[in-house]
Amino acid sequence: FLCNANDFYRMRIQTLQNVKPHIGYRILSSWGQQLQVKSIITQNTDGLHEQAGNINVIHLHGTIQKLHCHSCGTMYSTDRYVENHLYCTCGGFIRPSVVLFGESLDPHMLAAAEKEAKQSDLFIVLGSSLVVSPANSFPLIAKDSGATLVIINHDPTPLDSIADAVINNRKIGEVLSDISDELLSLQ
Ligand SMILES: [Zn+2]
Repeated sequence: FLCNANDFYRMRIQTLQNVKPHIGYRILSSWGQQLQVKSIITQNTDGLHEQAGNINVIHLHGTIQKLHCHSCGTMYSTDRYVENHLYCTCGGFIRPSVVLFGESLDPHMLAAAEKEAKQSDLFIVLGSSLVVSPANSFPLIAKDSGATLVIINHDPTPLDSIADAVINNRKIGEVLSDISDELLSLQ
């Protein structure tokens, strides 16, 4: 882990303290409470899903909202970064709990995502080009397991042909707003 990456992450963490989740995050959170959204699988590391009140968020690439010691694994709050206390009591470097370039994804996260994909009856892709592995394998697993697959992305994706519905060229927050009232009225 490179020490000069620290300035980058300290900036990111400080910036995020002022960022609020946009409407899409909040709608997903309301669905979670009323429509039994079982889980969210994300490559985002910013923690905005949790900030919007979503639970059971599976972070394939980890989260910038947690820190741990690169040597001994002790967890720390992000305050450490903001206060510029970068070293653990063991002398190890404190780093964000994200998957950095060249590192492997957490096998527990992958297993959790696969399990959720297999159990889902509706799998909605929100804003992914579906060209990066292994994230693009989960819609396939869901579809193979009998789920209805909906892809909402600005551009077409390689999985559009197997999807039950595809929505291109629209802002995710807007699409979710449009269908939210209708979905909730079905409850
Ligand atoms: Zn340590």
